[in-house]
Amino acid sequence: MQVTRRAPSFEPCPCEPSRPYAECCGRWHAGTPAPSAEALMRSRYAAFVLCNEAYLLSTWHPSTRPAGVTFDRGQQWLGLKVVAASVTGVNQAEVEFIARYRIGGGSAARLHERSRFVLEGERWLYVDGEQRGTRR
Ligand SMILES: [Zn+2]
Repeated sequence: MQVTRRAPSFEPCPCEPSRPYAECCGRWHAGTPAPSAEALMRSRYAAFVLCNEAYLLSTWHPSTRPAGVTFDRGQQWLGLKVVAASVTGVNQAEVEFIARYRIGGGSAARLHERSRFVLEGERWLYVDGEQRGTRR
């Protein structure tokens, strides 16, 4: 059973420490649709940091959505950098990002992924991602 960690509104957002959580991803976590694929991607990263399984599942396209999300308690997220965000179709977009993390006491690693998103109604949904290679 996972317990969602709550970020108090005045705390920095996990996706961008210079912005308060309440004025960044907190709005999308609270139910307002993220206005762009990049905003959704950032809010999903923040949801991973906060172990917000319900949000991750609700923003996952039904065709690729897993039954559940397992959080690795030993995995510490260190930061997110959006490399590129591009509109690829009428209701489609791609976001390339690098997320840095550490597992246990190990050295920092990078997840470099290009993710695909579709707009359904007013909500962006994550479809899938292609890893661009993991390097330190
Ligand atoms: Zn954020």
